[in-house]
Amino acid sequence: MSNSNQIIKQTERFGAHNYHPLPIVISRAEGVWVEDPEGHRYMDMLSAYSALNHGHRHPTIIGALKAQADLVTLTSRAFHNNQLGIFYEKLSTLTGKDMILPMNTGAEAVETALKAVRRWAYQVKQVPANQAEIIVCEGNFHGRTITITSFSSSEEYKEGFGPFTPGYKIIPYGDLEALKNAITANTAAFLVEPIQGEAGILIPKEGFLKEAYRLCKDNNVLFVADEIQTGFGRTGKRFACEWESVTPDVYILGKALGGGVFPISAVAANEDILGVFNPGSHGSTFGGNPLGCAVAIAALRVLEEEKLAERSLELGNYFLDQLHLIESPHVIEVRGRGLFIGVELNEPARPFCERLKELGILCKETHETTIRFAPPLTITKEQLDWALERIQHILEGG
Ligand code: PLP
Repeated sequence: MSNSNQIIKQTERFGAHNYHPLPIVISRAEGVWVEDPEGHRYMDMLSAYSALNHGHRHPTIIGALKAQADLVTLTSRAFHNNQLGIFYEKLSTLTGKDMILPMNTGAEAVETALKAVRRWAYQVKQVPANQAEIIVCEGNFHGRTITITSFSSSEEYKEGFGPFTPGYKIIPYGDLEALKNAITANTAAFLVEPIQGEAGILIPKEGFLKEAYRLCKDNNVLFVADEIQTGFGRTGKRFACEWESVTPDVYILGKALGGGVFPISAVAANEDILGVFNPGSHGSTFGGNPLGCAVAIAALRVLEEEKLAERSLELGNYFLDQLHLIESPHVIEVRGRGLFIGVELNEPARPFCERLKELGILCKETHETTIRFAPPLTITKEQLDWALERIQHILEGG
C-alpha cells in the first residue's frame, strides 16, 4: 500500500488545486478517531465541516446504507422509490414544514431555495417579472456555484468568475437598520446563516434573528435560514434558529443530513412556497435517491435517539468554559454555541492547526485567524478532556 507522502504527491499531481489541505491522509475512521496509512491516530475536531455530527461510520447509519445497497440504490425521479416518502415525512415532522425538496449538496439546496423564493415572489407576492430581489449578509458562505458566488462579499471567491447573477443586495451581518433599509416592494427573501460558520463562527447579537424575522413578516418577505452547517444539533439545538425561537419560512439543510456517509441535502418549507415548483421546473438525477434517503432516515433517527443536540449543548458549554480558562497570549476571543466553537487569534491560525495535528488533533483554520473546533456530537467528556490538554499546551505557546 502507498504511504502518505506518495498519496499526497499523486493527489497533488492529478487534482485541481482548489483546496489547501493539511498534509495528512485519512485511510480509516471510527467515531471521533481517524487513522493514516502509517497507523497514526488523530481526533477529528472538524467533522467534515459539520457533516459528521454523528461521528465517522456510525453503525446504525452504515447498517442502513448496507441494507439499502442490497435492495435498490437509484431510480431517478422518473419513478417512485419506497424510501423517499418516509424521508419526506420524517424531515417534515422535524422541521414542522409541509413539504421537502431533496437535492444532493448544500449549494444545490441553496440554489433550490433561491429558485423557490423568486417564483414565490412572482406567483404569490406579485413582484413584476424579473424584478425580485434577495437580501444576503456580508461574510456569507452559501456555496460555490456562479449564482451563490455572485452574492459573496469575499473577492477571492469571485475573482475571474464573472459575469455574475443580478438581483442580490448585501447588508452587514447583524445590522437590522440595514435590513430595514434594504427591503423594497420587490424583496422576495432574506437569506441568512443563523451563525456564520465560514466567516469564523460569528454569532449575531442577541435579538437579531428574531427582529429580522419580524421585519420580514411585516414586509411580506420570506425568512430563509441556511442551516446547512448549523443544523442537526451542531449548535446545541436541532436548528440554530431555535436559539431565538425563530421558525424560518424556509430551511436549507445538508451536510449532517447524510449522516457523514452520503451527500443529501434538502429544502423544507410550507406548500405556499415549495408548491411553486411544477414538473420540469426543477430537479436532480440523484436527488431523493433511495440510498441517500435510507441513510438520511437513519441519521435523523440517531439524532433523536442519541439526543445529539442535547449532548452538543451540554458538552459545548463544558468545552467553552474550559477554553475560556486557558490563558494564552495568542487568543483574542473564544465564542460558540454547542460544539460549534471558534477561537480567534491575533495571528494566523494555520500554524496552530499544524501544531495541533502533531499532537493528534485535526482542526482547520477558518478566515485566517480563527481555529474552528467542531468535533462529532458523539464525542465523550473524556475525549474532550484529552483534546483540551493538547489545545491548552498549544495555545499557551508550548
Ligand atoms: N451553506 C453553508 C452555511 C455552508 O457551510 C456550506 C458548506 O460549507 C454550504 C452552504 C455549501 O455546501 P456544499 O459544500 O455541500 O455545497
